[in-house]
Amino acid sequence: MLKHSFQDLQLSALGFGAMRLPVLKDGSGVIDVTELDRMVDTAIASGINYFDTAYPYHEGNSEIALGKSLSRYPRETWYLADKFPGHQNVPGVTPLDPEEIFEKQLKKCGVEYFDFYLLHNVNENSLRYYGNPDNRFMDYFLKQKELGRIRHLGFSCHAAPDALEKFLALYGKQLEFCQIQLNYVDWTLQDAKTKVEILRAAGIPVWVMEPVRGGRLAAFDEETEAKMRAFRPDESVPAWAFRWLQTVPKPTVVLSGMSNLQQMQDNIKTFSEEKPLTEEELALIAEVRANIARLIPCTGCRYCCAGCPMELDIPKLLSMANDMAVTKSFNTVARYSVIEDGKRADACIGCGQCARACPQKINVPEELHKLAELMAAQKSWDEICRERAEAAARLKKG
Ligand code: SF4
Ligand code: SF4
Repeated sequence: MLKHSFQDLQLSALGFGAMRLPVLKDGSGVIDVTELDRMVDTAIASGINYFDTAYPYHEGNSEIALGKSLSRYPRETWYLADKFPGHQNVPGVTPLDPEEIFEKQLKKCGVEYFDFYLLHNVNENSLRYYGNPDNRFMDYFLKQKELGRIRHLGFSCHAAPDALEKFLALYGKQLEFCQIQLNYVDWTLQDAKTKVEILRAAGIPVWVMEPVRGGRLAAFDEETEAKMRAFRPDESVPAWAFRWLQTVPKPTVVLSGMSNLQQMQDNIKTFSEEKPLTEEELALIAEVRANIARLIPCTGCRYCCAGCPMELDIPKLLSMANDMAVTKSFNTVARYSVIEDGKRADACIGCGQCARACPQKINVPEELHKLAELMAAQKSWDEICRERAEAAARLKKG
């Protein structure tokens, strides 16, 4: 297993993300703890030492199952990461109490300290909580760090680069690592490249989540897979996503939400050595990326913006349209919902000024019209808030 240095630690380059654990085949959604034990045994035997869970994973049961499985091994042989669900706070509901949540998490995981602890899902919406100094969560977590109950404090982030910068201006000095959604599609689609540059400039090491974009990069049409096999007959299709990470951004830890032993064994094989992609292989990745969901080829040049009578941030809206085409992500809906009134896609009056200015010849008004329709069909932000408040209340009781 490849290892990467983080301060005085040697972390396995592959981490076990416990958000998609194996479940019983009876449709109950209950975690299959026998299979989980086998996976943890395999992980530890192969040198994986980084395990990542979170308060809401598996309706609150991931922390319990993973903690129990790991407890079969000496505490100093594995690193456990957990997260504070500040993103579950919604307006009008009393914010979650960091102390109450943290104590409960230690108990659920059966540990006395977390090696890594993250503020979960910093994004444009959760910044209303995380960005409000009155909430004082940071004082509490820094105190726990002083007490040795948190060894390393970081955050996970789904925000766009400008919101990430806002967050770093507040807490960048206190946080030691950041987990972002990073893969060869989001490198451009979610502007992960800029986020990596921002984090590196701030001296914050990068952890990766969604390296195969929830499985979207794990299988392709026959022709594409045949091309991949021709280059690398001994490697699986998902391995390409990991090889790209080893070639371009080179993060510290890559978390994979593995759901079965076979996936884990394949990933372990991939992470037994570095085999960066060649120029020809990177060209194939570029081709694959362009084909995925026939993305809108916006380069973000902004030539279209100056003449827009509605002053819309066109490239930002098109990047959301691309994101929705690949995965109808909650985070994109959240980002869209906080765009001020009159600046969303439905404000486009179809004058065509932008399309005439666009060097990529994108039919911007048509794309914005499609985005407006798509977003109108999503759950409203209020509805999402209500559901999140209910989920938080269920977890609080549990
Ligand atoms: S077509 Fe829409 S986005 Fe394009 S310039 Fe006119 S109002 Fe702006
Ligand atoms: S001019 Fe075209 S490519 Fe450039 S930002 Fe606007 S839509 Fe994108």
